[in-house]
Amino acid sequence: MPDWSNWSGLVRCTPDAIERPSSEAYVAAVVTAAGARSVIRPAGSGHSFAALVATDDVVVSLEELSGIVDVTVDDDEPTVEVWAGTPIHAMGPALHADGVALLNQGDIDRQAVAGACGTGTHGTGPQLTSFSGAVRGTTVVLASGEVVTCDAAHEPDLFSATRLSLGAVGLITRLRLAVRPSYRLHERTWLEPIEETLSQLDSRIAATRHHEFFWLPGDDRAFCKSLAETEAEPDEMPDEPWERVGHSWAIFPSDRDDRFNEMEYAVPAHLGPECFLALRDLFRTRHPEAAWPIEYRTQAADDVWLSPANGRATVTLSVHEDASRDHEPLFRACEEIFRSFEGRPHWGKLSYLAPDERRALAPGWDHWWAARDATDPEGRFLNGHLRRLAGR
Ligand SMILES: Cc1cc2nc3c(=O)[nH]c(=O)nc-3n(C[C@H](O)[C@H](O)[C@H](O)COP(=O)(O)OP(=O)(O)OC[C@H]3O[C@@H](n4cnc5c(N)ncnc54)[C@H](O)[C@@H]3O)c2cc1C
Repeated sequence: MPDWSNWSGLVRCTPDAIERPSSEAYVAAVVTAAGARSVIRPAGSGHSFAALVATDDVVVSLEELSGIVDVTVDDDEPTVEVWAGTPIHAMGPALHADGVALLNQGDIDRQAVAGACGTGTHGTGPQLTSFSGAVRGTTVVLASGEVVTCDAAHEPDLFSATRLSLGAVGLITRLRLAVRPSYRLHERTWLEPIEETLSQLDSRIAATRHHEFFWLPGDDRAFCKSLAETEAEPDEMPDEPWERVGHSWAIFPSDRDDRFNEMEYAVPAHLGPECFLALRDLFRTRHPEAAWPIEYRTQAADDVWLSPANGRATVTLSVHEDASRDHEPLFRACEEIFRSFEGRPHWGKLSYLAPDERRALAPGWDHWWAARDATDPEGRFLNGHLRRLAGR
């Protein structure tokens, strides 16, 4: 039997089969053939830390369904329809050929687009939502094997549930995402004392399309990163070692070669600095061994049912631990702090919340489960992790 593992190696399973369908009809056939008692779990590129994909039955990777379906630029809002298995890194150059680009991106571009939407993957920017917030339509293979295309006007509940679906609504084959005209970014990075970072934080966030920082526990400094739109050409490199200019899709991603596990919470934007200070205090007093940075980012409010940024301007804070070390003591202590700042967990990262706590933190929880259950009453897309989230 085949083995499946996530990126960090924390989540492993040995399913009966890993299917890689190469057409929408084949995806529907996989669902039909799996049989009513099999659990079916869609996989992107396995970059989630939570056990979202693991099953003993059938894992379905849509990596063969990759590429741009079409780009629509004549409406008020340009959109792209893309096959679900398309890696984000493949989208930049392909969209650029049509004069458009993704609105925002996260730290890396290795995820499949359906995987990124599946957990609400986000970058930084106070005016910008997550990938899920940019979803304008989806095509999904339901538990019945039926293929349905939905949007805000057609099957609106199904559409809302599929924008951030945890892979629990069906196998998404295509997504329509809002995009914008191509743009270039000027990146500036620098190191400074954390006090300087915090004193300038509000003004920098307000003045820059994307601003974030990584607090480095070892020397109590911050690695800051600002990205601003620019008309400069990619080869007009500023004469500074910590600056560069390039197409948005070339500037957003970083390399993440060292393996780690991660917890991230979204807190109300105005509580971000105070929450960070509480985490920093925890690291310095109770966990001096913790060496990985804390990442601080911003996100606009959205209307996605399960989104941690639902209805509120957000700051996200993430903590990391080397994949070879026990992350649980540190993460549990951090989670207590996140909870005390009204934090909501990232669906793709680690958390120890009980089902009733989850429900209280996700404004669209009941709507989402009702819409999900309506098309999958037997729970064919629910693995143990998802059942535990719901307390089932
Ligand atoms: C190094 C690293 C950096 C990261 N940086 C960021 C970041 O900057 N911002 C951020 O928010 N997160 C970040 N993450 C988390 C990551 O973006 C999310 O966990 C994301 O969901 C992973 O995408 P994936 O393609 O690997 O999907 P997977 O982890 O394989 O799956 C994610 C979810 O999507 C579902 N899914 C996948 N494909 C389909 C489909 N076709 N139909 C229906 N459901 C589907 C799965 O069932 C699962 O529930 C990072 C993770 C790592 C390891």
